[in-house]
Amino acid sequence: MATIHPSTDFRSDTVTWPTPAMVEAMATAELGDDVYGEDPTVNELETLAASLLGKAAGLFVTSGTQGNLIAALTHAQRGDEAILGEDAHTFCWEAGGIAVLGGITTRPLPTDSRGRMAVDQIKAAIRSDNPHLPHSRLVLLENSSGGNHGAAIEPEYFAAVSAVAQAHDLKIHLDGARLFNAATALGIDPTAITTQVDSVSICLSKGLCAPVGSMLLGSEEFIHQARRHRKLLGGGMRQAGGLAAAGIIALKTMTQRLQADHDNALALALGLATIPGIKLDPQVVETNMVFFDLENDLNLAPEQLIKTLKIDYGLYIGGYGDRTLRAVTHYWIEPSQVDRLVEAIRAIVALHPTPGYT
Ligand SMILES: *Cc1c(COP(=O)(O)O)cnc(C)c1O
Repeated sequence: MATIHPSTDFRSDTVTWPTPAMVEAMATAELGDDVYGEDPTVNELETLAASLLGKAAGLFVTSGTQGNLIAALTHAQRGDEAILGEDAHTFCWEAGGIAVLGGITTRPLPTDSRGRMAVDQIKAAIRSDNPHLPHSRLVLLENSSGGNHGAAIEPEYFAAVSAVAQAHDLKIHLDGARLFNAATALGIDPTAITTQVDSVSICLSKGLCAPVGSMLLGSEEFIHQARRHRKLLGGGMRQAGGLAAAGIIALKTMTQRLQADHDNALALALGLATIPGIKLDPQVVETNMVFFDLENDLNLAPEQLIKTLKIDYGLYIGGYGDRTLRAVTHYWIEPSQVDRLVEAIRAIVALHPTPGYT
């Protein structure tokens, strides 16, 4: 299969390649054995991430999924229960890892259109101390909310959940795969959110463009235990400094430019909204994701749109079930490609004339 260049690829921000500055830094990084704690570049990345996110310590992990799994294993025991949104990434897209590997049961709650569980429902879901019941131990939150248009959840929500969790001795882990997108959209420092939770994971390899890796942040004691769980899961890496060098650039510079991706996403949404038969509300675009639907009576199947974009235009978008499609903006997507995508979709829709949409 031919390589798909990320400048044409709107399927996700996971498709980003490392930037030229990252490639240079990766080639010249100082190395050591990180399982011995001797890779200076990994150590620098862990210290930097902890300080940017207002936590005492950090751990470089292989993926966001691994970071969330390690966090759950570290906070909770077998037979404990985690409260989380029914559309949370950890519930839907992580192969059930916390149950499979941690013996942790899940208590999914409904979420609103921005991915938030109601605080009083979280409170009501906390179990009493009764031998029949699992032990409520953990609340898992997500920001931005990937299953809800990339909504950027405000710090006040985390403060409200934190008050409930603390009152009942529950821990909070934040899946902050795209936390910097959320913070950018809200115009706040991410610590306004991370200080309300016990641990947080962030992805270096999505909009921040590092090739591999996530960070898990928390207290010294939490990270000490997390390091054991990383090893248990086979995530102890050796000369990982080359990857960490890209992560340092991700945190220092790529976090500062995300507004450009959000501007591009909004421009894309506004453009798509002008095409008859395409249904979306540009107002729900808060970060770098645009979800849109093909109207039911539009004479075009989503698979056909995806295929025609690929074959005739060399552009890639993602299918999201039923008649929903997703386009995500990132560092490699230029405004000119956003315009190309809008005009390509307009042209493809016009080739499938539908009564009522002409
Ligand atoms: C991508 C993502 C993850 C998992 O990251 P991987 O590195 O793909 O394992 C976790 N949570 C959210 C919200 C994500 O978007």
